[in-house]
Amino acid sequence: MPTHEWLLGRATMRYQRELRESQWLAPKHLHALQQKKLTQLFAHAASNTSFYRDRFAEHQFDIQADDPASQITNLPLLDKQTIRDHCEDMVWSQSPGGVYAYHTGGSSGEPLKFYIDKRRQAYDQAARMRSHEWFDVHVGDRELYLWGSPIEHTRTDTVKRIRDWITHHRLIDAFEMSPGRMDTYLDTLERFQPACIYGYPSSIALLAERGIEQGRTVTLPGLKAIFVTGEICYPHHRHTISEYFSAPVTNGYGSREAGFIAHECPEGNLHVTSENVFVEIIRHGQRVPDGEAGEIVVTHLDAYGMPMIRYQTGDIGKLKPGRCTCGRGLPMMDVVEGRTTDFLYLPDGSIKHALSIIYPLRELSGVKQFRVLQQADYSVTIDVVSENRKACVTREAVARSVLPVLGDEVDLQVDLVDRIPVTRSGKFHYVTSKVSLPTISIQQDARSDG
Ligand SMILES: [Zn+2]
Repeated sequence: MPTHEWLLGRATMRYQRELRESQWLAPKHLHALQQKKLTQLFAHAASNTSFYRDRFAEHQFDIQADDPASQITNLPLLDKQTIRDHCEDMVWSQSPGGVYAYHTGGSSGEPLKFYIDKRRQAYDQAARMRSHEWFDVHVGDRELYLWGSPIEHTRTDTVKRIRDWITHHRLIDAFEMSPGRMDTYLDTLERFQPACIYGYPSSIALLAERGIEQGRTVTLPGLKAIFVTGEICYPHHRHTISEYFSAPVTNGYGSREAGFIAHECPEGNLHVTSENVFVEIIRHGQRVPDGEAGEIVVTHLDAYGMPMIRYQTGDIGKLKPGRCTCGRGLPMMDVVEGRTTDFLYLPDGSIKHALSIIYPLRELSGVKQFRVLQQADYSVTIDVVSENRKACVTREAVARSVLPVLGDEVDLQVDLVDRIPVTRSGKFHYVTSKVSLPTISIQQDARSDG
């Protein structure tokens, strides 16, 4: 891992040493660190990006304010549409090592493009490594990923194998969860003997359920923890996973666009990565006191390539008052409502993680928003909103993009619509399936949310 990071020109190991120390700082010292970093970020954003230079001027924002953590509330929140409209003006073109483009759907189902620099990548990676250390999992230990991403899919197998060999990582595909595949995943798991498993809680729970159904036990004496992330971790998922694999389940909260926001310690409290991320809880445009719920708004303190100041995550949560018994000075939070993930089901028995269809739709140019609905007879309807009249997406292009996921057995209908209404709870559910598989209870429960 140190070589891997060094080859990529990142200061990850130095940042990790830094974070290892700072987690024990008293809250007031961590707050002082945030104040200092906020001031530095404002100065950087004002001198190196035209978007923030204009935004600060428009709101007469004092970038040298004594108390930037309070003064920041004088700036408007940053929503996805603003990022979409001004993305290129938010980028620092001189970023050391350049910037990398990412695409995500956030929690709204609307595709979003943004950029990340090496400094942010390295800090996010260092924060992730620190959370692993909380569970006695260290650099070089074997880690099994149950994950799916377009990056992994387009890489050649050789590159992947070499990287896996160097970093002691093994990837199994969370987008391909047919019963037969899951049996081979359990074989892989026992052969590989990982120190930790990392992935979507819904997928890992599905794998555990498969093992339970088959009456199959797995023996993993070296397994120290199961790290789940990317979506809400329901208590029943947690229970199923930890019982089946005989290891604690620990939850991480973050996203590609917002960073590594928080992670659970062994005491079960979600600690904010406050050295790198400034979190505000906002309701009706106002910041609410600790203990009250609202939208989670994030300013990444080390995202210099493309500063994200007061980014609206769309997730609901609260900051918790008090200190954790683990002794860390990092503040605690709860995520009340966030991304939930559904599965799609194919007539041949395969189970597709929602992201496996979300990714190709997100990549399709001209798509502003989409919603996927599967009926009980396996047929699928995709509603698509075009970016604008000029960049109009066609039904054929949508159908072609999802063909590798759905295959040709599924009856597919694509509708081009003007808008997609949100659900009554205000939450956008972008993949929903009505196929009921009574033998697998976990998806039933996951679907009832929202
Ligand atoms: Zn703790």
